[in-house]
Amino acid sequence: MALQNKYLADLLEKVKQRNQGEPEFIQAVTEVFVSLEPVAEKRPDLVEAGVFERIVEPERQIIFRVPWVDDNGKTQVNRGFRVEFNSAIGPYKGGLRLHPSVYLGIIKFLGFEQIFKNSLTTLPMGGGKGGSDFNPKGKSDAEVMRFCQSFMTELSKHIGPDTDVPAGDIGTGAREIGYMFGQYKRLRNEFTGVLTGKGLTFGGSLARTEATGYGVCYFTDELLKANGKSFEGQTVVISGSGNVAIYATQKATELGAKVVALSDSNGYIYDENGIDLELVKQLKEVERKRIKEYVNVHPEAKYTEGCSGIWTIPCDIALPCATQNEIDEASAKTLAENGCYAVIEGANMPSTPEAIEVYFANNMLFGPAKAANAGGVAVSGLEMSQNSERLSWTFEDVDNRLHNIMKEIFKSCDEAAKEYGMEGNYMAGANIAGFLKVAEAMKAQGCV
Ligand code: NDP
Repeated sequence: MALQNKYLADLLEKVKQRNQGEPEFIQAVTEVFVSLEPVAEKRPDLVEAGVFERIVEPERQIIFRVPWVDDNGKTQVNRGFRVEFNSAIGPYKGGLRLHPSVYLGIIKFLGFEQIFKNSLTTLPMGGGKGGSDFNPKGKSDAEVMRFCQSFMTELSKHIGPDTDVPAGDIGTGAREIGYMFGQYKRLRNEFTGVLTGKGLTFGGSLARTEATGYGVCYFTDELLKANGKSFEGQTVVISGSGNVAIYATQKATELGAKVVALSDSNGYIYDENGIDLELVKQLKEVERKRIKEYVNVHPEAKYTEGCSGIWTIPCDIALPCATQNEIDEASAKTLAENGCYAVIEGANMPSTPEAIEVYFANNMLFGPAKAANAGGVAVSGLEMSQNSERLSWTFEDVDNRLHNIMKEIFKSCDEAAKEYGMEGNYMAGANIAGFLKVAEAMKAQGCV
């Protein structure tokens, strides 16, 4: 993806120089800048206001030591991060990722994406992201609790319900959020909506668990309908088997599709009869087991080692819901050759730039992550509203609001793409629509 606009090309060079060793962050900025070229041409006032220079620099980056004691009495040390990227339209908002691959570049790419995603939801939320290289896998509950308490002891100095409101992400589910919330409350002596994704007995929102996966399918449904198609009778491949993948499987099935494959970081299962989701929920949500255990109950299904092979399964629609850069050029070509006509991203940045070029070259429908997976943060925003009101809305109420938000997100991507002469390019539409709202706010607030 080469930039034609000299101003943005020069700025991208500066970003590369300043953020060396952070390829995921550079990848995310490059994709957004490519989409924003027509905006830079059409809106010299935003260039004049320095919006582009400011938006690629986080407002604040916090890196801290997280010491904790394991079950053998040994001290362990992890590194914690919180990147408060942009607060032009609301308090920083974004999840906490707990995974051994976490370093500053991953958190910055996620925080940068979050700015535009949160803007698209129409709710007043700025962009942020955090996490740690701690690996919750294989740890006892007591170890996870001690880590979360140590992590929150430092993080609590920087967040607050009107400042920065973290949530879950890879490796951070209800258990981790519960431990972190408990520690924040103890340290600050405050019961506030400082985290979202909380348990239902202490301020969590109904439908937050389902929100990202359901939202991906609501968005996909709109995109398919706008292109004369639907989920009905379609074969769908979904990667991952975590929170997003599970609830995308559920909603896609409800909308008439057959989901035939899921994966984890070790391998994938293929069940041509359609995935038995109750079994997957039991294995992953309750027993915290590997996806390969599925074939013990369904021997007619097939398990294959290695997660990228999942893209060789023929399908109509692919929903990558595991992690960044999981579909490369070769996988994208295989998908296209096997007749896949739509890729909608549940995970953050799951397609490499080369893969995206393959989608466009083959006229595939492409739904970018920052629009398609915005349902999670949207319901987090609704959780914040419920906490402020000290009320709990019903599941149906939250789900209806989520559905409407996803419809609106699709509409803004579609309209922005049309307005800037790129009809059908929902990636450009999402980047432009998400950017413009934040950019106007940044311009109005002056050079801060
Ligand atoms: P979970 O931790 O619940 O699940 C992640 C899934 O992806 C697991 O199946 C995991 O397998 C797999 N996975 C993780 N890392 C890798 C890797 N390096 N290679 C292959 N597979 C991997 O996370 P979520 O479902 O919450 O998140 C999935 C994606 O969706 C992430 O990109 C996240 O940022 C994004 N997202 C999540 C939101 C949410 O509300 N939860 C909101 C918006 C986006 P294993 O168990 O083997 O690690």
